[in-house]
Formats: sequence, C-alpha cells, structure tokens
Amino acid sequence: RVKERGRGSYGFYQPQMNANLLMRMRLEHAMRQALGEQRMAVHYQPQVNLVTGRIVGAEALIRWTDPEFGAVPPAQFVPLAEESGYIVTLGAWVMEQSVREAARWMHEGMPIVVSVNVSALEFRQADFVERLTRLLAVHHLPPTLLELELTETILLQDAQEMEQRLRALADLGVHLAIDDFGTGYSSLAYLKKLPIHKLKIDQSFIRGLPEDEGDRAIVGAIISMGRALHIEVVAEGVETTTQRAVLQQMECQHFQGFLCAPGLPGAEFRQLLGKSVRGQAPFPSLAPAS
Ligand code: C2E
Ligand code: MG
Ligand code: MG
Ligand code: MG
Repeated sequence: RVKERGRGSYGFYQPQMNANLLMRMRLEHAMRQALGEQRMAVHYQPQVNLVTGRIVGAEALIRWTDPEFGAVPPAQFVPLAEESGYIVTLGAWVMEQSVREAARWMHEGMPIVVSVNVSALEFRQADFVERLTRLLAVHHLPPTLLELELTETILLQDAQEMEQRLRALADLGVHLAIDDFGTGYSSLAYLKKLPIHKLKIDQSFIRGLPEDEGDRAIVGAIISMGRALHIEVVAEGVETTTQRAVLQQMECQHFQGFLCAPGLPGAEFRQLLGKSVRGQAPFPSLAPAS
C-alpha cells in the first residue's frame, strides 16, 4: 500500500482523518446544544494569599458534561469554540455567570476578585468594553472585583488598539492578569507600558519545583520582576506543600492549585470561602502568629 499524496488521490491516512473530522463536527454540534440544555457550568478555583492563608480570589473555569462524551475538558472544546467563533457566545455566558457569582460573594460579606479567562476573539469584539461596563452595572459589581485573564498573544495582535482597550478597562477599574506567563513569545516591554495588575506563572514552571534549577531560576526572576514593577504574582498549578514552601520563601504573593482545591461548583466554593473569611480555612496554619 503506497502512500499517494497527489491531487485527487486518497492517502493512506484518509479514514483516520475522516474519523477525526467527524468527531470534531459531532463535538462542535454537541457544544452548541450544551448551553441551552444546561450542560455547561462555571466552577471556581481559589487563589490563596501565601502569607495569610486566606482566599483572595477565584478563577472561573468552564465545565461541560455531555450525556454522550462525558466530561469534556476545556483544553478540547475551548480551541474548537475559538476556531468557529462560538467562543464569543460561550465567553459572554461565562462572564455573566462569574459577575453574578462575585456580586453574590460581595453581598454575603465576602468580597473577593473573580478572575475570568478571555479569548483573543472575545477581547477583540468592538463592543467588549461597553458590554462589560453594562454587565457590571446590572449586577452592581465594583469593577475592581473583576479580573480578566489574557494571554501574551492578545497583546501582540493590533497592539495599538488592544492597548487602548486595556487602558479603557483599567480606567474603569477592572484588573488585568497575564495568564500562562512565560510561555508566550511576546517581549517584556509591555509590562512597563500597559496597566497589568497580575502575572500568573505558568504551571509548567511550578511542576519542577524545588529540584529543577531552571524552573527555580525562572520562577524567582518572575517574582523579582513583579515586585520591582509593582505587579502581583500568582503561581499556578501548585500541588505539594514543598512547592508552596519554596514559593513562600521566594516571597511569591499568591498561589492557585490542587493543593488548595480544584475548580469547585459555586455552592461548594462559597462554603470554602465562608470558612476562609472566618479564618478556618483553607490554610489557617499560614496565618502569622498574632
Ligand atoms: P488556565 O486559564 O491556565 O487555567 C488553569 C488550568 O489549570 C485549569 O484547567 C485548572 O483546572 C488547572 N489546574 C489548576 N490547578 C492545577 C494543579 O494543581 N495541577 C494541575 N495539573 N492543573 C491545575 P482547565 O479548567 O482544564 O482549563 C484549561 C484551560 O482552558 C484554561 O487554562 C484556559 O486557558 C481554558 N479555559 C477554561 N475555562 C475557560 C473559559 O471560561 N473561557 C476561556 N476562554 N478559556 C477557558
Ligand atoms: Mg486562566
Ligand atoms: Mg494559566
Ligand atoms: Mg492555560
């Protein structure tokens, strides 16, 4: 069986390629049904202050459970939604849920920041800032309790227009975080130029702590840079107490990871947040002796 790649010929891998394409189409179709069928949910993963041990924020993470495909990970369907443009609809829904939830935390006396992932295509919508402003007003959420997680690549495209948009958001009081920091290809120049509030150190650099010298150096450098530039730093993907201890030593401010909790359904997260506010969780041991 010879692999032929000529025009009009069928290559050796064709059946497999068709199967993949078919699978994508079925996933895409199911994804578009999922919102209406209430199969999507937003979960909240705590961000913890490394000095006080208290929850200071939460990242909103989309979850999809399909009757046929089971729990589909975002790494699988978010890129699909980005390619087809459906992410604009999906993202608007996540934003609304998140803003509503953060307003609830505030009204229950537990005002913390909700951090929402925003894809490039969403952020580039001409009415993005306007819609967000309206949403915050409708739910009476102070803009400072909302943070947007953007990736470095967003800052590269249409740099000038994106810069204007970032300034408009910062003027509004919305916080801006750079997600997966250190994995992109952008220059660092934007850090002094743009109103960035937070860097999220990508979990790939945390995984090797404390043994990997390279990871230690990179994490240390990001923390120092954040301190010098007055930008907060969060370590992502912290799974062990050793990793947490190393980050504490390096004077990183916050961490997020399975060591504390995975993304939790709203009600479960509120319970944990309540304990945190009462000083009972998740890490009372981190609190300085008083
Ligand atoms: P991300 O924004 O970097 O989110 C962090 C991911 O790391 C989440 O995966 C989270 O569950 C996972 N994680 C947190 N702590 C740990 C840990 O200690 N160990 C390990 N191994 N993983 C940890 P998730 O929820 O599967 O999301 C994957 C990616 O999908 C996100 O990466 C984000 O880029 C995207 N995503 C998720 N929700 C949304 C959304 O609502 N909108 C958009 N545009 N993208 C989203
Ligand atoms: Mg994120
Ligand atoms: Mg990340
Ligand atoms: Mg990521």
